[in-house]
Amino acid sequence: MKYALVTGGSRGIGRAVCVKLAHMGYNVLINYAGNTSAAEETLRLVREAGTDGELMKFDVANATETRAAIEAWQMAHEDEYIEILVNNAGIRRDNIMGLMPAEDWTAVLGVTLNGFYNVTQPLLMSMQFHKFGRIVNMASVSGIMGMQGQTNYSAAKGGLIAATKALAKEVAKKNITCNAIAPGFIKTDMVEGLDEASLKKTIPANRFGTPEEVAECVAFLCSPQAGYITGNVISINGGLYT
Ligand code: NAP
Repeated sequence: MKYALVTGGSRGIGRAVCVKLAHMGYNVLINYAGNTSAAEETLRLVREAGTDGELMKFDVANATETRAAIEAWQMAHEDEYIEILVNNAGIRRDNIMGLMPAEDWTAVLGVTLNGFYNVTQPLLMSMQFHKFGRIVNMASVSGIMGMQGQTNYSAAKGGLIAATKALAKEVAKKNITCNAIAPGFIKTDMVEGLDEASLKKTIPANRFGTPEEVAECVAFLCSPQAGYITGNVISINGGLYT
């Protein structure tokens, strides 16, 4: 059995990624922060796709909790390893910098950047040992172009892109790839409350993207066929920023 871990797999893009990886034959470990009913629905969809999965509730920003969850899984699966990691968990706490509370800065960097470290670091050794691994980090167009009202989110996603490039160089020899995806506006809970009608006028494709469109790209980057693509950032944004 082959295993994939998707952080933030309970909803939105993460859920679509879990289902797609299940269709590729992976047993999917569905991480989430607190929304158990949504995570259970993802697990149901994974099983419907023909494989199996497990729920893994932990806060990726919490180093102790994350390490304990990963170590417990590894102890229960001594002969197996997680060969695909999709660092997808993310939050936004938008505000102009002048009014941004310190906790909103820290929270966003905590989930995206510390989360990347907390989850990726303990999994690297076994990927290197098995000489195969796929890491996909969910960045954002905001981390490439910078968006007003999102200095925390842009900083976090920009940092994640830089980390992606650095790690890709460290692990390439071991047949491990590390890439980032930078979505534009994708229809999920995260964009609830945004003015879709006026925002879509700024997008050449004239619409928001779907989680499934992002999942297709994740799936390709995770496939053996994508073995020579590493350290890259792939934009999925309907032409919003090129
Ligand atoms: P979403 O619908 O809001 O879902 C967020 C997911 O992350 C949920 O599964 C949530 O778990 C999980 N999560 C949040 N904080 C967590 C934590 N501390 N530990 C573990 N899991 C946590 O978001 P989405 O739109 O699918 O976004 C997924 C990723 O794509 C994020 O990194 C986001 O920044 C990025 N992105 C999204 C868009 C967009 O337009 N939607 C654009 C660019 C980039 P619970 O269900 O338990 O809360």
